[in-house]
Amino acid sequence: MRRLAQHTRDDAYASKRDYQELHQVRSVRAYSGTPANNRLVLTAEPVDGIASENIAAFGAYIAAETPLKLTARLCWGDSDRAVAFDLATDFTRVGFALGADEQGPLSLELYWDGAYALDIWGLDIGPAAIPDGIVLADVLGAGRSIAPETFYLDHAVALNADLEPSSDAAVAEEGRWLHLKKCSYCGRLLPVDMNRLGSLAFHKHNAKRTHHQNECRSCKKWRINDNFNPSRTVDQLHESSVITRERKIFLQESIILQEIKKRTGEGLKSQVWERFDRRCFNCAKSIPLSQVQLDHTRPLAYLWPIDEHATCLCAECNNNKKDRFPVDFYSESQLRELSRICGLGYGELVQKSVNMEQLQKIMGDIVTYATTWEPRTFFSVARKVQEIHPEINLGERLQFLNPEIHEQLRSRAAAVRLTEDA
Ligand SMILES: [Zn+2]
Ligand SMILES: [Zn+2]
Repeated sequence: MRRLAQHTRDDAYASKRDYQELHQVRSVRAYSGTPANNRLVLTAEPVDGIASENIAAFGAYIAAETPLKLTARLCWGDSDRAVAFDLATDFTRVGFALGADEQGPLSLELYWDGAYALDIWGLDIGPAAIPDGIVLADVLGAGRSIAPETFYLDHAVALNADLEPSSDAAVAEEGRWLHLKKCSYCGRLLPVDMNRLGSLAFHKHNAKRTHHQNECRSCKKWRINDNFNPSRTVDQLHESSVITRERKIFLQESIILQEIKKRTGEGLKSQVWERFDRRCFNCAKSIPLSQVQLDHTRPLAYLWPIDEHATCLCAECNNNKKDRFPVDFYSESQLRELSRICGLGYGELVQKSVNMEQLQKIMGDIVTYATTWEPRTFFSVARKVQEIHPEINLGERLQFLNPEIHEQLRSRAAAVRLTEDA
């Protein structure tokens, strides 16, 4: 996703008409040569809580030597989801999303039977940039009509993940040829099959030079929503992901989660899921463990780490709650019930407070945090703290203690803004 954000920024405005050009590319061929054990294992760099929505997705365009069933299993931390796809001898659009745990490596396994080769283009796994206004349940559900385009993954190269040595199939650059075309809206390069117009990432349009529409399927479908600007969504996701990740590292969340697991023999997510009767606390709908999102209850943005007071939410409710305090999101009767289930006293639950222990840690070593964090993390923490404690201004405190570091932080922040506006 970071690669995509970069790519979008670099290319989006390069040429106004380049979405009418086609570039020929060659897919990769995966083949084991044995009738059984056809297995590809791919991993991507760890993406600890990279998306505020905590949605990971897999997407690709795959053709098989003969029609066959392909099973794809996506794992993120303790969460996993497997989906079977019917592949044809022409390229098929495949992909799905997973409401994921808050931490852990991301990996994908592909299985198929028979000594048949697969041609693969645009395989990517990563956090999904789900545009605002899309019902998350639609994206997480079985509906595949807009997958994989709707996850806003990067499909500009054949494989955008690392092939693991444990794979039982080899991959070589000798697959069938395809063409790439840029989406005029999100700026991504996505595949088209010129022998089967409209079959891949773009709908058919005979009047256009490329015989395809200017916008990809997903942008075509969602841009009717005025709020929807995919390149902004991708950038915002990137930005919020950096801040979220740095906060989680600062609060040592992965250590907390490991300790809970060691102490109780069970992952926090499944414990919370059971405690909340396997339902989303907010909308009360039943959810499978794979779609559970652990909500911090008291927001991460105010320096509250994940702990055993977490709330079980569905992806949609977690996305709606975002950084809000429980008292700004739930009704009075919900707050009473939440206090009973999550074990936080009612008085504590309805308070809007910053975690003072963590804030003291930052104030005690402010120069270190100002130099090691991304500037936007520093300023975001400062904003949240000042919202609750108007008298505490971390920026001014830093300026007073070390004007030079403060100036550096400001110019680094300005540089980031410039790159993002470019
Ligand atoms: Zn698009
Ligand atoms: Zn819900």
